[in-house]
Amino acid sequence: EQSGELRNLDPSVKVVVRIRPINGQEKEVDRTVRKVSSDSLSVAERKFTFDSVLDSNSNQEDVFQLIGVPLVKNALSGYNTSILSYGQTGSGKSYTMWGPPSAMVEDPSPRSHQGIVPRIFQMLFSEIQREQENLDGKQINYQCRCSFLEIYNEHIGDLLDPTQRNLEIKDDPKNGLYVENLTEEYVSSYEDVTQILIKGLSSRKVGATTVNSKSSRSHIMFTFVIESWCKGASSKCFSSSKTSRISLIDLAGLDRNKLEDLGRQHVQEGKNVKKSLSQLGYLVNTLAKETQPEDAPYQGSCLTRILRESLGGNAKLTVICNISADNRNSGEVLSTLRFGQRIK
Ligand code: ADP
Repeated sequence: EQSGELRNLDPSVKVVVRIRPINGQEKEVDRTVRKVSSDSLSVAERKFTFDSVLDSNSNQEDVFQLIGVPLVKNALSGYNTSILSYGQTGSGKSYTMWGPPSAMVEDPSPRSHQGIVPRIFQMLFSEIQREQENLDGKQINYQCRCSFLEIYNEHIGDLLDPTQRNLEIKDDPKNGLYVENLTEEYVSSYEDVTQILIKGLSSRKVGATTVNSKSSRSHIMFTFVIESWCKGASSKCFSSSKTSRISLIDLAGLDRNKLEDLGRQHVQEGKNVKKSLSQLGYLVNTLAKETQPEDAPYQGSCLTRILRESLGGNAKLTVICNISADNRNSGEVLSTLRFGQRIK
């Protein structure tokens, strides 16, 4: 029921690089990292090409226009859509995705720090409202629900109910893969969603541990499911029942050469992060290349297993590779760009 044409216009996997500006403590900009054109950058003498490159002057609205607007359109057309925010700790992964919680209640102006996720839901609910007003008589019903989980040390926790720290992935032959006992909230407005985002993000923070904050050691995933169906009796309407899933993932930071600094009990965390990110790279690489991605390697880690529902079938994924313009990070920058490059 979904046209193959749409898919061809818009590739199923896109990679966008965002360069974070330096902050107050970082005095030296790395001049070897340079944006060369709208889709390429160079690091020292090496040139890397992606779908788009956003330099350190880009604002949150630029990121939304580039990635969020097409995502909302695809989601409302019935595609599964996902964003993965990748990069070392401190590279701007969380800023790009959520922005500061206080900015979620602002209007999404270009200058606001509001991240791409709240902007997506602002647009989504206004599109839904517009669509409902335009269809005289033939009413489309929408039902939206969401959940927010964390993967820490290969354990799934519920960010909306932090007492649930060891949830299991179940595979139901009829309804597909799901996380057992994960809280699902029904939502019908932007305000509903921001409340849930703020609550979930604060649960992630509470779990901070000593050496490295836990937030850099966990993957978090906000999932939003849209079901729509038409109430009208016209035959055109009957075929328009759709379900689509939006998966928004802020990944753990892959910090090279840090395992030995972590202290004994944190080594396992670091190993799990490393392993799950490399399995993820392998999975996305397969999805970007194969025309028949049904047999893609989902089994390698908790993260890739969970992503089967989001990335399988007729899905669209954007990977944001966040890098920092601070000159002490060149090793991390190269490893992040290589991750993005492997996918393309
Ligand atoms: P990560 O999630 O990758 O660990 P953060 O998103 O927490 O990194 O970013 C680290 C710091 O840099 C935060 O204080 C954040 O507000 C700031 N920051 C990141 N990206 C930008 C940007 N594009 N513009 C301004 N500040 C940014």
